[in-house]
Amino acid sequence: MSPPPIVRSRKSLRTTDSPINFYIQKALETPGLISLAAGLVDEGSLPCEAVAQACQAVLLDPRRGPAALQYGSTQGLPRLREQVLHLLGQADGCSPHELNLTPDDVVLTTGSQQLLYLLAEVLLDPGDIVLTEAPSYFVFHSVLQSHGVQVLGVPVDEGGLCLPALEELWEQLARQGAAERVKLLYTVDYFQNPTGWTLAAERRPQLLELVQRFSRRQRVLVVEDAAYRELRYEGPDLPSLKSLDRDNRWVVYAGTFSKPCAPGLKCGYALLPPEIREPILHLKGNHDFGSAHLVQHLLAELIDRGEYQRQRDRLRPLYRHKRDVMLDELAATLGQEAGIRWSRPAGGLYVWLAFADLDTGPQGALAQAALEEGVLYVPGEFAYLPADGERPPHHACRLSFGVATPEQIREGIRRLHRAVRRVRHS
Ligand code: PMP
Repeated sequence: MSPPPIVRSRKSLRTTDSPINFYIQKALETPGLISLAAGLVDEGSLPCEAVAQACQAVLLDPRRGPAALQYGSTQGLPRLREQVLHLLGQADGCSPHELNLTPDDVVLTTGSQQLLYLLAEVLLDPGDIVLTEAPSYFVFHSVLQSHGVQVLGVPVDEGGLCLPALEELWEQLARQGAAERVKLLYTVDYFQNPTGWTLAAERRPQLLELVQRFSRRQRVLVVEDAAYRELRYEGPDLPSLKSLDRDNRWVVYAGTFSKPCAPGLKCGYALLPPEIREPILHLKGNHDFGSAHLVQHLLAELIDRGEYQRQRDRLRPLYRHKRDVMLDELAATLGQEAGIRWSRPAGGLYVWLAFADLDTGPQGALAQAALEEGVLYVPGEFAYLPADGERPPHHACRLSFGVATPEQIREGIRRLHRAVRRVRHS
């Protein structure tokens, strides 16, 4: 007799693997494939030597070695929290004091992904509303879906989130009596995943004003996911939303060492308004009572030695070159075809390629032809949540120049061009 069934929680039943993982996994079985899909970083530039040296320095120091291999605190290493604030102050051109921030407001997390998850746990109940960019970072969509919330997308353009559309949506919600259900506004405001676009300087204070205006009975928190901020290839850095939030009341800043240093270290950090710091820490305590302590010591050492800063600065010309290779090859190939546009990101790892006519969906002719030609992209529809059961927009795709070499990028775009021509002329 078979045993009775295992009964899973409602939350677990709402939690599914993102369809993108299945798609990429399956596609990667194709031999000789060039993947412009994965969001991985450039491998040749990962700082193996600097990390090895930092590891030696930390572990062979009789004071720090045993401490680094001991449990740390849930909130994370005080030295690294101080350094995080210092680096952020440098990026924003103001001192943490001016922003009312101390190392107590910083929590170190296992990548910024853990913070996104903890935030959802702390703030969201089924039926709540979360506003996001459309398209947006699909892994966070999965988190939101597992919490049973309603996700409403606001369009983005070259200047990031479209504020008139946001305002209109919010007014509509207010008319329906649903504005009070909005708990979070999530934005990837630097070189967005997946479009590569950045929230324009003039929209930043306006966004905060809007959020404050529509926070009537309860505060809507802005989650500023700055995962790609350090990877800027041109132009001056823009002030973070966090730096405009002078009293530390409205913005949660989610940063990470994954892109500017190494994703394998899996260390992120949060700047949190005081009211949610304790709840986040309680939950994180239940999860892991602190992220890997050795990793935090390594990062503190890398920053003390200036190695982290050198690594971050070394990456800029490297990725700038790869971005330019992708943009030049796009112009030389798909630029000759009608009805195709793409973003020109000033940083980050992604280009968003939009077709006037072609369906980029995973079951469509273009995805099939691309696979036959030996190139993989992320179908754009994965970056939207379906609204009312309708199929999301499906005429764009995300291309990444992160992990592929310049030669692979060139060849990958040529293959994509051949796929487009095949589909259009078939
Ligand atoms: N936010 C965005 C927009 C991302 O693209 C990623 C990773 N690709 C993350 C957060 C999470 O990164 P990590 O957990 O490595 O810090």
